[in-house]
This record gives sequence, structure tokens and C-alpha cells, in this order.
Amino acid sequence: MALKVCKFGGTSMADGHTMTKVKNIVLSDPDRRYVVVSAPGKRFSGDIKVTDLLYKCYSELMEHGDCKLAFAAVRKRFEGIVRELGLDFDMASVLDKTEARIDSERSEEFTASRGEYLAAVVMAQLLGAQFIDAEDVIFFDENGAFEDKKSYAAIAAATEGVKLAVIPGFYGRGADGKIKTFSRGGSDISGAIVARAVGASVYENWTDVSGFLACDPRIVDSPKRIKSLSYKELRELSYMGANVLHSESIFPVRKANIPILIKNTFRPEDEGTSILPIAQYKPSGNIVTGIAGKKNFTVIFIEKSHMNSEVGFVRKVLSVLERYGVSVEHIPSGIDTMSVVVESDSLDNFKLEQILESIKAEVEPDFMRVSENIALIATVGHGMSSSVGTSARLFKALADAGVNVKMIDQGSSELNIIVAVKNEDMEKCIAAIYREFFGN
Ligand code: ASP
Repeated sequence: MALKVCKFGGTSMADGHTMTKVKNIVLSDPDRRYVVVSAPGKRFSGDIKVTDLLYKCYSELMEHGDCKLAFAAVRKRFEGIVRELGLDFDMASVLDKTEARIDSERSEEFTASRGEYLAAVVMAQLLGAQFIDAEDVIFFDENGAFEDKKSYAAIAAATEGVKLAVIPGFYGRGADGKIKTFSRGGSDISGAIVARAVGASVYENWTDVSGFLACDPRIVDSPKRIKSLSYKELRELSYMGANVLHSESIFPVRKANIPILIKNTFRPEDEGTSILPIAQYKPSGNIVTGIAGKKNFTVIFIEKSHMNSEVGFVRKVLSVLERYGVSVEHIPSGIDTMSVVVESDSLDNFKLEQILESIKAEVEPDFMRVSENIALIATVGHGMSSSVGTSARLFKALADAGVNVKMIDQGSSELNIIVAVKNEDMEKCIAAIYREFFGN
């Protein structure tokens, strides 16, 4: 029998009207048995997400000893939702207890997690489903890493024989007994964890878009929708900024070959995008699956004659970055040259100076140069490795568009070609690649 885990994002949970849509989606298919929810998101542009209101509560708590003012806005949101839904239960007392626990726990992660907690309490009432608290089933170890086996066992035990349950996303419990959250957008990860734990046949991720597009619609007008992509392609695209789904959320499901289906709560009839393990993945016939870009990288270019024959050269350079706690994104290299690409946010001027000095001392390069304000653009697709001339087409398209390419890195997975350009050329570059491989 099919078993579906569905995760609903913030816009699906924004108010009573959208939550009713969620209810209809869940109840329309008896296979949809475990529901993971985010905190209510924005109802209109300029609105504030409940999670952001809660971070404000924590600041107020730290400054004034309580968070009465900021929590009043959270209270109003949830009271409004319960009223709109016509639910008959004592939300006021749930809210009172939550506020009191925020005051006593005095923890930022606890406070931030309450949006998901309250949303799940309401959704469980609306669906007539059992509420399973994430703090009882999702665990982190003393280093803050997710504890998979313990969590999977707890979720499997808590859901055993349960027909319909709602579980809040985004948080779990740390080894110290305190609430811990994933990074922002982490309810996607919670959904994947639940899907893995219950052995779901599919992990449905309900958002406010009808799946992944071949590139950012702010750059190209109505780009094509991607019908299906592999876990690997998703990982490359979402790391590079395609942010429909949290990039960490594939790990739990990938190991168990559970497909992810991205669906739109506001257009449930749309087919969406399937993210599949390679064994189930059917090539679309397109050479390129998608294009994504990310700005603000710094490239350190190093040149030294006979670099290739100097044992330990790359290691010495990388160990400098490691010493300064800077993680390296890419290392394209030639015979006498290598570049190290890092996120600019991980450096400040002072740190950069120190890193350059240390590299000089360590490997005595002939020449070094730093380029800042660099964007990386990844063109991703399994079809690329088997079709001759793909890079030639890509670079010709960029040359025709007058884009100056600063660096090229063809990933060793043969799944992507990454080009580095100036920040201000990123949009032009993506549009040119899109036109070349998808037409207008
Ligand atoms: N509510 C959290 C956030 O805003 C987590 C989530 O939505 O997935 O980041």
C-alpha cells in the first residue's frame, strides 16, 4: 500500500483559508497519513512570517525580561487562524502556556520553534489527527548533529498504528534536553526524516510553486518547468540558489530511494516536479536540466611554475584556509595554476590579508591575485556528459552575449559546468545559457 508523508510550507499554513486547502489536500487521499508543517508564513508581501516574529520575541525577552509585546503579534495570528477555521478548542490556554515556557526556557531555538509547534497543534485539530511533538521523536547529539537511528526508531514507534498524525517541522531535542532547530527552512528536512522513518513511498513537499523551473523566473520570463530531476541534479541546483527545497533535505530520503514530489497547494492539479533516485530517473531528453546562480564569491588565484610536481602544494594551500576556518567551495586547477573559491561572507578584509600572507609564506607562489564580487553559475544535467559539444555551445552563447568568463570548473561528476563571472553579469549569463539550451 502506498504511504505518503506530506510537508506543507509556510505559505500553505499562512491563514485559515490556506489551511483549509491543506486539509482538503490531505483528506482527499487516504495514503496521506503523516503531515509535517512549517510555521505560518507571509499572507501578503510585506507581512511578517511567524518565525521572524518569534525571533523578535527572543530579542525582546533578552532586553526586557519578557516578550509580551512581540508575543502579542504571534497570539493575534493564531487566534485569527482558529477563529477563521471555526475550531472549538482552547487556543488561548495553549498560547498562554507557550508564552510562559518561552519566558522560562530563555532559549532562542526554543522560541523560534514555537511557530511550527503551534501550527501543528492547530492542524491536528483541523484534521482530527493525532499530534506528535517533534521534541519526542527527533534528536540531536552532543555536537548538534542529527541522530538518525534514534530518531527513526522513535518516529516509527510513535506512528505505529496511527492513521493520521501531524508533526511540527524545524526542530527536535538536543542531547542536553533542550529544543534545537535545523537551519532556516529546515521543516523540509523534518519532512524527509519522517518519510524515511515510516518508509514512505513518496515524500510530498507542498509549496506555493508548481515545482522547479529550469532557471529563476525573475531572470527569464516563464522558464520551462522541470518535470523530473535526479537527487544529484537537485543537490547541485539547490546548493547554487534554486531554493524551492532545503538543500539538506534529500539526505534522509536518498538512502532509502524515496522520491520527493514538489507540489503546489494553490494549484494541486498541476503535476509538479519529481525528484528521483538515479535508478528511477528517466532522462527528459534535454541536455541541460536546469541553470542556477549564486553571487558573492571570492577567488584566490595562485600561480607557480612546476606546481604540479611539488608534492603537497594543494594541501598546504588548503590547510591555510582550514586554519582560518574558511570552507572552500571549488578548486579548479591547471598545471601551474590553481584557484580557490570561497564565499565572500566567510572572509573580512583582515582575514583575507592574513590568509594571503600565510599562503605566501607556505608555498612561495610566483603570482597571486584576488577577484571579489564573483558569481558562480551552474549548468546542470545528466545529459551533458553524453552529448558532444555541450561546453562549446555554452561558451559560444556566453561569448555572443558579451559575457567575460573568469573561471571554468567542470565538476568531476560530469553533471555540471560551473562558470565564474562578475556579479553584475550573472543574470545576463543565465539568460544566455537558457536561450541556448531551451530556446526562447
Ligand atoms: N519556520 C522556519 C523558517 O522560517 C522553518 C521552515 O519554514 O521550514 O525558517
